[in-house]
Amino acid sequence: MSKQEIPYKIYLSEEEMPKEWYSIRADMKKKPAPLLNPATLKPLTADELSVVFCRELVEQELDENTALFPIPEEIRNFYKMYRPSPVVRAYCLEKKLNTPAEIYYKFEGNNTSGSHKLNSAIAQAYYAKKQGLKGVTTETGAGQWGTALSMACAYLGLDCKVFMVKCSYEQKPFRREVMRTYGASVTPSPSDTTEIGRKILAEFPGTTGSLGCAISEAVEVATHTEGYRYVLGSVLNQVLLHQSIIGLEAKKALDKYDIVPDIIIGCAGGGSNLGGLISPFMGQKLRGEQDYRIIAVEPASCPSFTRGKYAYDFCDTGQICPLAKMYTLGSGFIPSASHAGGLRFHGMCPTLSELYDQGMMEAVAVEQTSVFEAAEMFARVEGILPAPESSHAIRVAIDEALKCKETGEKKKILFGLTGTGYFDLVAYEKYNNGVMSDSIPTDEEIAKGWATMPKVDL
Ligand SMILES: *Cc1c(COP(=O)(O)O)cnc(C)c1O
Repeated sequence: MSKQEIPYKIYLSEEEMPKEWYSIRADMKKKPAPLLNPATLKPLTADELSVVFCRELVEQELDENTALFPIPEEIRNFYKMYRPSPVVRAYCLEKKLNTPAEIYYKFEGNNTSGSHKLNSAIAQAYYAKKQGLKGVTTETGAGQWGTALSMACAYLGLDCKVFMVKCSYEQKPFRREVMRTYGASVTPSPSDTTEIGRKILAEFPGTTGSLGCAISEAVEVATHTEGYRYVLGSVLNQVLLHQSIIGLEAKKALDKYDIVPDIIIGCAGGGSNLGGLISPFMGQKLRGEQDYRIIAVEPASCPSFTRGKYAYDFCDTGQICPLAKMYTLGSGFIPSASHAGGLRFHGMCPTLSELYDQGMMEAVAVEQTSVFEAAEMFARVEGILPAPESSHAIRVAIDEALKCKETGEKKKILFGLTGTGYFDLVAYEKYNNGVMSDSIPTDEEIAKGWATMPKVDL
């Protein structure tokens, strides 16, 4: 066919925005392992999960066979405020690298929360509202998820209680104020407002908190307050489902110009943006229709895929959440204070873990200084100031494009640019001042993390 000029940005119209989410699990022959009740070690039932999560989200969580889930109109209307998001041809980056490769990125940072997390926040808030709840609780580390959820709750008139890891609460006062502007209450965690928080404070006075600990507090408040449920911004199957909008839009946009990516790259914290981006492509791969190289990028400081174990583990420090079978470093693993807060979770979403175990995707770990080098180059040529998390994907996209320069191959590379870095300027400051360092856990430190995993052989 005649070669069409590919524009800098490929947009879809509102009408072209997908009307259904797609679940990868439907096309997996071997399904991800079920969530287990930590007390009985039996698969969790819908009734048990409904104490913590909204009913309809529980149904999505447990449904392994439905491929397409209609996106309710109210959620689609909210999406229209910031979607469809463009696929961008990184012409300037290609030129800078002098590579024959074609580089494309799907940009999810064009909303106030600054990341893809809003795609699931609005869905989860919608189902809470539909169930007649008063509000939701959650935790936030770097703050992107808390911000996204406060925006969604403000839109729907729901109360939103956010437990924010104490060191972030103190270091990122601007994020906190965005959440409060959207009407959320923000509590530094650990706090004396919960039983588990008081216990942790007594045991570790002066602790600056952790994501696992904030999860425990948020779950406690949700299960002890009438009319509240807990919501989570990554890791769960339901979150991957909502994030499939990223990949469905990307595929539709690329299809318009007959572009078939050879390599698809995304950063992986809990796995939701990557799972969303790859979903329609992985679906084709699972059905044997098309092959793609798919690469998860994680920080060398928190290498769940590349150095973790595939086993059942706790999702939170308080060990009150369900057990999930995943690639994990152990719930007691404390990653060093890297600047990609959104990638500091010890585990990985069970669906992606199973796909990785089946050899359907690859993973690489990268060091933070090389990530910021990539971020700086990208910002200077493409104009967007990327989030540190997203810059992990940029790093590997650049590396793959440079390999093409060596071999002369014209590969097509698609990566997920999950968000912007305006709230990460302390990290950029460190990089600019030349005082950023890399931290890679030793084998002993990783073994210590594993020692905190459930002792039972599951
Ligand atoms: C939270 C976050 C991530 C990582 O989370 P996933 O669930 O792995 O997608 C990546 N990028 C940004 C900008 C984030 O806020």
